[in-house]
Amino acid sequence: MGTDSGWPRPTRPRLGARTTYTLHGLLAANRFYRRLARAIERRHGLYRWFTAAERATKEELFGCRMCGQCALPATGYTCPMTCPKQLRNGPCGGVSTSGQCEVIPELRCVWVTAYERAEGSGHGSDLDLLQRPVDHREWGRSSWVNYWQGRDEGLWVDPADGPPLLRRELGLSPR
Ligand code: SF4
Repeated sequence: MGTDSGWPRPTRPRLGARTTYTLHGLLAANRFYRRLARAIERRHGLYRWFTAAERATKEELFGCRMCGQCALPATGYTCPMTCPKQLRNGPCGGVSTSGQCEVIPELRCVWVTAYERAEGSGHGSDLDLLQRPVDHREWGRSSWVNYWQGRDEGLWVDPADGPPLLRRELGLSPR
């Protein structure tokens, strides 16, 4: 699990990649889920219960650490917050040539797992997306409620669509 010791540990998702992409389709944001999310958030007790259920489910399946801003759809459903360095934009320079984590060498780097899962499901280009920095105020909050209410829009950007400053920082030519 990702939280056994309180520190992030690379976690291999328990669900196959194709299954998770299919499940995401069932949970995709729509008017019904938006209303449901609003109703849940309005009731403090219900929100706490729902968040606890989300935590239990996603911790078991993905090692989720409840950052509240879920990157799973763009990472082959591999949680980047289980990386010991919590890197959200790919592996550090320490990943071994065999794909093992630098910090916990007996475990596979989550970004290698993410690559294998995304690529194997036809979603490899998702890994080109740039993840925004984590908003630490959202830790412990329900990422499903946030997602359904549209708060995840802009959580990642396509560098090709980025503003000129971002494109310059990335060494890309201005559009
Ligand atoms: S909500 Fe955050 S910690 Fe949980 S699975 Fe998604 S990215 Fe990982």
